[in-house]
Parts: sequence; C-alpha cells; structure tokens
Amino acid sequence: MQIRECKVNHITNPLGYKMEKTVFSWIVDGIKVTESRLKIWESENLVKDTGWGILNNLATSVELELKPRKCYRWQVQVRNLEGEELISEVQWFETGKQREPWTARWITCSNEEKRLPIFQKRVLLNDVKEIISARLYICGLGLFEVYIDEKKVGEEYMAPGCHSYNYYVQSRVYDVTKQVTSDCKLAVLMGDGWYKGRFDFEKFSDPFYGNEYALIAELHVTYVDGTEKVIITDDSWLVERSNILFSGIYDGEIVDDTLPKLPMEKTSLLEKEMPPIEDRLSIPVTVHEHFIPKIINTPKGEVVLDIGQNLAGIFQLRVKEKAGRKIHLQFGEVLQDGNFYRDNLRTAKAEYIYISDGKEHILKPHFTFYGYRYVKVEGISDCESENFTALAIYSDVTLRGKIHTGNELINQLISNTVWGMKSNFVDIPTDCPQRDERMGWTGDTQAFSETACFLADTYAFYRKYLYDMAKEQEARGGIVPDVVPAFRMKRGCSVWGDATCIIPWNMYIYSGDMSILEEHYESMVAWLAYIQKIDGDNHGWRNVFHYGDWLALDAPCRGVSQTRGGTDEGFIADVCYRKSALITAKVATLLGKAEDAKYYNELAEKILQGIREEFFSFTGRCCISTQTAALLTWKEKLNDRDRARKILKELLDNNRNMLSTGFVGTPLLCETLVEQGMVEEAFKLLLNEEYPGWLYAVKLGATTIWERWNSLDETGHISSTGMNSLNHYTYGSITGWIWKDVAGMHVNENVPGFKHVRIAPQVNWKLKFLEAEYPSASGTYEVSWKIEDIRHLTVKIVVPNDCSATIELPLSDREAFEVDAGKYEYTYETTKEIAYIYSTADKLKILMAEEDVRRLLQAEISDVEYLASYTGEYPLRETLINLDYTKEFISNLDELLREIY
Ligand code: BGC
Repeated sequence: MQIRECKVNHITNPLGYKMEKTVFSWIVDGIKVTESRLKIWESENLVKDTGWGILNNLATSVELELKPRKCYRWQVQVRNLEGEELISEVQWFETGKQREPWTARWITCSNEEKRLPIFQKRVLLNDVKEIISARLYICGLGLFEVYIDEKKVGEEYMAPGCHSYNYYVQSRVYDVTKQVTSDCKLAVLMGDGWYKGRFDFEKFSDPFYGNEYALIAELHVTYVDGTEKVIITDDSWLVERSNILFSGIYDGEIVDDTLPKLPMEKTSLLEKEMPPIEDRLSIPVTVHEHFIPKIINTPKGEVVLDIGQNLAGIFQLRVKEKAGRKIHLQFGEVLQDGNFYRDNLRTAKAEYIYISDGKEHILKPHFTFYGYRYVKVEGISDCESENFTALAIYSDVTLRGKIHTGNELINQLISNTVWGMKSNFVDIPTDCPQRDERMGWTGDTQAFSETACFLADTYAFYRKYLYDMAKEQEARGGIVPDVVPAFRMKRGCSVWGDATCIIPWNMYIYSGDMSILEEHYESMVAWLAYIQKIDGDNHGWRNVFHYGDWLALDAPCRGVSQTRGGTDEGFIADVCYRKSALITAKVATLLGKAEDAKYYNELAEKILQGIREEFFSFTGRCCISTQTAALLTWKEKLNDRDRARKILKELLDNNRNMLSTGFVGTPLLCETLVEQGMVEEAFKLLLNEEYPGWLYAVKLGATTIWERWNSLDETGHISSTGMNSLNHYTYGSITGWIWKDVAGMHVNENVPGFKHVRIAPQVNWKLKFLEAEYPSASGTYEVSWKIEDIRHLTVKIVVPNDCSATIELPLSDREAFEVDAGKYEYTYETTKEIAYIYSTADKLKILMAEEDVRRLLQAEISDVEYLASYTGEYPLRETLINLDYTKEFISNLDELLREIY
C-alpha cells in the first residue's frame, strides 16, 4: 500500500520547468480511494489545501500563484470508505525565473577563432558564511555545458536542446549548492548545435537561427543568514579557447590536444535583440545504456568496433598515443560485405578526430551524437575493446511497457521498436539519428505516437514538441510545417500536419490528463482553418502537395528508391482532414465548447460527402484499389464497410498475404484485420519473414526499425542511399498493435488514462506465450497467455488498484465480462484448434502464401506454381481430383499439411 509516481506536469520533482500551469498526478496502490487531499507549501507556509474531496489522481490541476525561484513542497493523502489513510512522501518542485527580468546580460565572443569558447568567471564568495543554496539560471546558444572547477554540472547533454529558437529560448536551472565554494571557477563550454551549426536536410551550410555564441547566466547563492549574492554574465567574463576545433551535429567533433594555449579573450555584451527566455519544457537528454564493443577485422583490413546495437549516442574512449598521433573514428549503421559502410548517411561526416598530446585521456564528444552500431577506428596502435564504451543518449522519458513472447524474432522486433524510439527521442521526436537530417518530422511521430505511449511516459516529451508546433503554426497562419522546429521548412501537408490533432489526442487518452487539449486546442483549430482556406469551394486541399502513403509498395511505377505510394494522395488528404475535424470536435466537447463541437462535426460530415462523391462508386465501393484505401474506408467508416473488408481480403490474397502499405496504411493494418475478424491474416503479416514484412529486417540482423521495407535487399546490401535510414521508427507502429491486440490492451477513450480498459488478447501458435506488463498512468496492468496444447490455453490478467476491465477471452465462447482490480487466471479448452490447420480443402492460393506449405506442395505436386496461377481460387482438393490424383495421395497430403503449424 503506497502512493507513488507523484508528478507535477508529468515530471518527478521538476526544477526550473515552465509552471504556468500545475497538474498533479499520482498512483495509489492498495486501497480503493474515496477521498483525497493535496497540500502545497512554500517554505513553511501552506499555500494550498484542497481539503478532503474527490481528486483525479491522473490530473488534478491546481491554480497557484507561483513566485519565481522558489521551492514548493507538496504531499497527497488518500483514504477509503473505511477511513484507512495513505500519505505520499513529500514531493517538491522549484520554479525558474519565470517572467522575472534577468539582471544578467547576454554575452558573446569573437567568431574569428574557430576553437570552441569556454566562457568563464572566477566566483568569489563569502568564506565565513555557510552557503545553504546555490542555483545557476542559464541559457547558452548553440549548446552549452557548465563546469565548476573543471567538474561538469548535471548529467544533461545537448542543452538547451532543439527548439524553435526564433520565438523563445529555454533556460536551465542547476542546483550547484554542493559544487560552489568560496573561490571557484564557473566555466561554460559552448558548441554550435542546432542554433548556429549546419542543420538542415537540404544541405544548407549557413546556420539558420544565429551565427554567434550567446550566453546568459545568473548564479544565485543564498547564505545561512538569508542574504544572497548574485553573479551574472556581463563583459567582465573572459573566454578561454578549448582544444575543440570543430563540433557539429551531423559532422561530429575534431579535438586537438597539441594546440597551444591561447591568451584569454574578452567577451562583449550581445547587442542584438534576443528571443524571450522561458523556463524549460524539454526533459533532459542523458546517457542511458552502455555497450562494450566487439572488435572486427574486416576483409578490407579495417578495424571496426561492433557495439551490437544500432542507437543514437556518443562514446567514451580511453587513449594513450604518442604526441601528434591522429585518431579517426567514423560511425555507421551497417556493414557491407563485412566492411565498414556509411554512404546512407549522405553528407553527414559523423566522425570524431583526435590529435593526441601523448598523455592518457578519456575522450567523449560534447555537442554531437551519432546514429551508429559500427565504428571504424584508425590511429589507435593497439585497439582494445574495453577502452571503448558506447553510450546511448536520449530524453529521459520513463520507459513503460515490457512484452516478452515465446518467439525470439518477435521479441527482437519489439526491442528494435524500443530502440527506434530511444534513438529518435533526442529532445525532439526525429525521423532518424544518423544522416544529415535528424529532424522533427511530424508525420513520422504522428504515426508512432500511440505506440510510444505504450513504451514510455511521453507526456512531458511531447508537450514540449507540441509547444514548438504551436509556435510555428502561430507564425504561419495555422500551417503545421512538415518538421518541427521548422528550420527552413515552409510547407505543411496532410498526415504530417494532422499531427497537431492526433498527438495531443493520443496523449490525452493514454494519460487521462486533459490539459494538453486545453493547451493545444487553438492550434488544432488553426490547422483546420488553414486547410479550409486551401480547400475553398473546389476541394483545393486534394490538389496541393501531399506525401500520401509514403514509402508504400503499390505505386504503379516503382524503383528501389520509390517514395510515393499507390493510394491517391488527395483521398488520403481528405480522409485525414476529416479525421482531424472529428478529433477537434471531440476535444471541443470535452472542453465544453458545444458550438465548436457542432461546427467540426458538421465540417467532418461535409468532408465525408465530398469524399464519397469523388472516391466512391454509387454503391459504396472505394474506387481506389489499394490496401491503404480499404483500410481507411473501414477504419474511418467512410462507406460500405463490408465491401471494404472484402476488398482488403482480396487485395491481400492477390498479394500472397503480403502488405504493400506505407506510413498511412501500415499503422492501421493488423488492427483493422483483427476488427474485421481476420486474426489469422494479421498474424501472418506479423510473422512473415520474407520481404516485405517486419521480420524480414529482423532476419537480416536489424536491431532497429528500418525506414523502408527494402532498406537492405535480400543479400544484405543497402538498396539505395538517397533516403535510407536503418533507424526510423514509423513502421515500429506494429509494436503498438502487439500491445493492443496480442497483449490485448485497448485504451478506452471514454475512460481515459487506462482507468478502464478492454482486455482482448489474440493468441497465435507461433508465439507460444506472451507476457506483458504495462505500467499505465493508472497503475500496472499485466496480461499473459500461454498455449498449453493445441486445444488449451491459460490467460492471466492483473488489473491494478482502483481500475476495472472488460475481458474478452480468446477462442472462448464465454461472453465479455467485467472485472475490478485483482488477479485473474483462466485455463480452458478453446473453441477450436489454436493453430491454423491447413488442408487440401483450402484454396490453393492461400496454401501457396505460407512458406512451409508452399515448400511441401512444391515437393509433392508437379508444377504447382503454374497450377496455382489458374486454379488458385479453388480448393486444392477439387483441382487434385480433376487431375486424377488418388484418394490416398490426397489424404496423405492432408496428413502432411496437418503437421504444419
Ligand atoms: C524523412 C521522413 C519524412 C519524409 C517526408 C524523409 O526525409 O526521413 O521520414 O517523413 O522525409 O516525406
């Protein structure tokens, strides 16, 4: 029995975060809460006491008049009907400077010297009075790291992160009480990063946001007697030059320890007008997993380190080489014919160059990161693997769901998705972490956002992203640029821009916290208003550029580097426009804006009529014959759903039950099949090991999700280099499906935050068992199932405290039933055999779609491929009889088919 996971704005004990709004959340274990009470203090003063009453543990918004730079403590108490009480540990949050004006000034230094600057100040404090607290309020552009007496402050990398710097910049607050002394050196090393470095996928080399280093900082020291001393940035600060000659996000770092010391330079006040400084929203990017590599000597004679996992990260390398020796590290994702390779990184140099001064050092980059698994090493005389440690970096989200199954390939696929998320959660949700791109593509993360909600607590992470999105939209008359922050991107289009409606909605239904909807509502409205403007009276939205079903495999004319899919982009644009209107209508209802809700529902209806007129036949058949069109028709209830189901089935059958979907269709695919009762087909897609499919990549050794279905060809060669990352998470949305339909956890949007869920797992013979644990916003759910034998199943379910579930047992004739919190176990005889038993009664084309079956038939029936080309639609048995195969042969074949499951 305890109260845990106490958070403010979904962050544990936040220091220096934006607190214009304070939303408290917590989880209670052990008692059924009837009343709660929240108290908040500033020092000893109680500033808020909600009194006993009904509080929403998922999101209790409290209005507070917070002062800048103050620490607040809070505690929550709960009790049940019997009067049993629980009390949380005391929690805290501390404000940043909020809107308080800075006494410090922005300072800068000359740009002529290329070596990265270290801004510094000797700090002299009263050495008699004890320091009880010291806080550093700081922002530095491009990127900064703070050192006190040469020791790094905090554990954060890449501060102040990537945001839309032209509208605001984010400050940081560091608690340096333990580090400051009465005479110490405060130093800030600065790099280029997103603000002033090369960062744009269209190969521009000029910095987009600014061309100067800019630093502002205030060190507030409080002594035991309550007096305060403040040290600020001004032109008394000096600049020392580091040995870092170059640092860039795409290109890596160059460090030369043989460089001479340069004289200290003066700093100057930065006169240009700087964007407003706001308290941070970004959660910190920190180091997580460590990997020790294996050394490979390649056929070309290269020394390559293999860390065994593709990731976004940096490294730590112990070196001791003679003075003047150059060490060169290059980073790549994949080997080609056993050799180091990285042409798919395009112009990104992704390297680390070091010139030794002859002493032993531990090298670690400061202001770059690499998307890599392999490192080519040059210049190290005796390369030993334990001298190198790969360090995965990503935003400090709390990881959530864990799934384990009896199928190793599926486990690897899930792991690949988790690593896809980690690698692309470096302050912003990116498309990829390795090439000259790494941008906050809205479409990619929109498609992945629901899956991400299973894998991590994404609320604070996405809230910051949406904050930038709102700022970009505001500046562009509602357009959602394709990437956020936008950098030079002006365009906005469907699916990608619909992120502005879809992401907050997913955040809400998985967290139960409505505040993101309040915050982002205006941006949803602005996006729809923008589309409406383009749409006009003539369906203009259909006719502007859209990416559509990006990277789908069904375009009429295809090449290996094909990007556009075969589904009419105008159709997709209209469907997503309607989807955004429907979400906005739901949000309006939740926010009590009945008029708006009516308006957006009507708009959605109007769009639907337009879609039907243009894209459906008179009788309700979708005129676009692609898997994605059929999926959208079903999922978005566009027209005759039965027809859509039949068409989808046909399209799959005709494609040997292979997918051909891209960014739009793929996230819907398996889920829709299950809704349509085609569970077997959904599992076939999941378990297909051939191209195109998820396990194809796994079988070729992928440790992350690829950008393309064919990123590598069957021989393991990169299919094309123009746009081909091995660490893109969009197709990882399949893991979201595994959560929803294989673990069976279905969020209920009417009871958001997993207070009530529908648990309806689907089982498959080839998975043998599944164990899933989901620490949801409301508590930890567990679902596991195990196939005992071909007719027996055990299902175990844990519903957390104060929650409830509707359970639908798989392959059971028991009706759905309701349960409250508790542990449940069911062992039963299934309504049919758990594995699909093939027989000659199946259509030949169905049999030929299954690899093992196909092999058997090829061995048993001559010319079966040819036979299938014209009798595929008929049960094999009929064809065999027509061809005078004997009864014995057929029953023998049935016996053999029975064995395959
Ligand atoms: C990115 C994508 C993105 C796409 C837009 C690519 O370069 O890597 O994932 O969504 O462009 O079409």
